[in-house]
Amino acid sequence: MSPLLNETHDPALKSWVASANLAGADFPIQNLPFAVFRRKGSAEAFRGGVAIGDQVLDLGAAGEAGVLGAAGSPAAVAASAGGRESLNALMALGTKHWSALRTALSRALREGAAEQAPLAACLVPQADVEYTTPARIGDYTDFYTSVHHATNIGRQFRPDNPLLPNYKWVPIGYHGRASSIAVSGQKFARPVGQVMAPGAEAPVVKPSARLDIELELGIFIGSGNALGDPIRMTEAEDHVFGICLLNDWSARDLQAWEYQPLGPFLAKNFATTISPWIVTLEALAPYRVAFERPEGDPQPLPYLDSPANRAQGAFDIQLQVLLQTANAAKAGTAPHAIVQTSYRHAYWTVAQMVTHHTVNGCNLQPGDLFGSGTLSGPTLDQAGALIELTTGGKNPISLPGGETRTYLEDGDTVVLRGWCEKPGAARIGFGDCAGTVLPARA
Ligand code: CA
Repeated sequence: MSPLLNETHDPALKSWVASANLAGADFPIQNLPFAVFRRKGSAEAFRGGVAIGDQVLDLGAAGEAGVLGAAGSPAAVAASAGGRESLNALMALGTKHWSALRTALSRALREGAAEQAPLAACLVPQADVEYTTPARIGDYTDFYTSVHHATNIGRQFRPDNPLLPNYKWVPIGYHGRASSIAVSGQKFARPVGQVMAPGAEAPVVKPSARLDIELELGIFIGSGNALGDPIRMTEAEDHVFGICLLNDWSARDLQAWEYQPLGPFLAKNFATTISPWIVTLEALAPYRVAFERPEGDPQPLPYLDSPANRAQGAFDIQLQVLLQTANAAKAGTAPHAIVQTSYRHAYWTVAQMVTHHTVNGCNLQPGDLFGSGTLSGPTLDQAGALIELTTGGKNPISLPGGETRTYLEDGDTVVLRGWCEKPGAARIGFGDCAGTVLPARA
C-alpha cells in the first residue's frame, strides 16, 4: 500500500541547490517531482528530469555520470529509464525502482553530498526550459469524485434530481480524449459547437459563450495490469506513479445540449491542460489523511474498502484557482485567486478509482491518466468551476481593476496551483498549470 515515511521525508533535510531551501519553495529536496523537458527553443531531444529548487536535474545525464547507484541497481535502472523522451518506461518499472531512485536522488542532492560536483553539471535552470506532456498518455479517464461538485452541477442540469442514486455507490467516470492533453502554457481557441437556446426550436452552431474551467488533479498510472486481471484495493496504489494538476476546460452550453444520454463529448475534448510536474505518491506520504464518509452515507462495497484506505486513503492537497484577464496581463497585474479548497474532500480515493476501473478486468497501462473530476469543497466558495461559483452565470465574480466574470472571456489565463503543508513536514508544491483562451476560429 502506501510508502511509509522514510529518510527522504525528513523536514530538516537541506539541499546543496540553495533555491530548494527557500521558505515556500514548491520543489524542496523532500519533493523531487518528475517532468519531461528540453532547453527552451532548442532542437534538443525532450528528456526526463527532476525538479530541485529552481533547477531541473537532467536524469539521463545524472545516470550517465554514474552517481545514482551502481550499474544495474534499481536506482540506476530507474534513472536511465527516466531520462528518456517520456516517463512511460520509468512508470512501468514499479514502486521498488521509483523508491530506490528517490532515495538515491535525496542522498545525492543533500548538503555535503560527494555527488555535488558531478550532479551540478546536470542541472538546467527551470527558467531556461520548456516542457512537454510527461508521458505518452494512451488512455484518459475522467472521474467525478467530488460529491459537492456533482450536487452543485446536478442542481443546475436537473433541479428536481441533483444527485443520481448511483453516485454514492459507484465511482462515476467516462473515457475522455488523450490527444488534446497538453502541458501548462497551452493556448487554445474557444470551441465552436451546437448550442440549443432555451425555448428555441433548433440548435445553432456558434462559439461557446459559457466556457468554464474544472479544477482537477491528474493521476498517472505507473505499472499496469493484464487485461482480465482486476487490481485489488491492497495493491491499487502500487500502480500509481504520481499526481499532477489538471484543468478540464469545459463548454457548458455545448455540454447541456449534447450530454444526454451518453455523457460529455465535444464540450470537453478540445483542450485539457496538466502541470508539467508529477509529484509521486511517496513524496505525498506525509499528507495522507483518513478517508471518511458523512454519517448516514453508505460505506463502500467490500471491493472498494481496505483498512489502509480507511486510515489514510485520502490526500490533503491544497488547491487554488487564479484568473488573469487580458487587461490584467497588459497592466502587469498578477493572477488573482478566485478559489481555494483541498483534495481531502473527495468522495472517492485514488485507490478506489484504480480498483473500480479494473473490477471488470479493464487493463491500465503505464502513462494512462485519470482526472479526479472537479474538486469542489463543501461550500460554494470552494467550488472548482465557474458554473458553480457564479451559480450558472447568474452571480458574476469580481476581479481586481473592476472587471467581473461569469464564464471565461478571450485572453483570460487560468492558473491552477497545488501544495501541501503542515507542521512537522516539509512544504511541497506542484508548480503552475496555466492555460489561455484564444478567440474562436472564424
Ligand atoms: Ca472533468
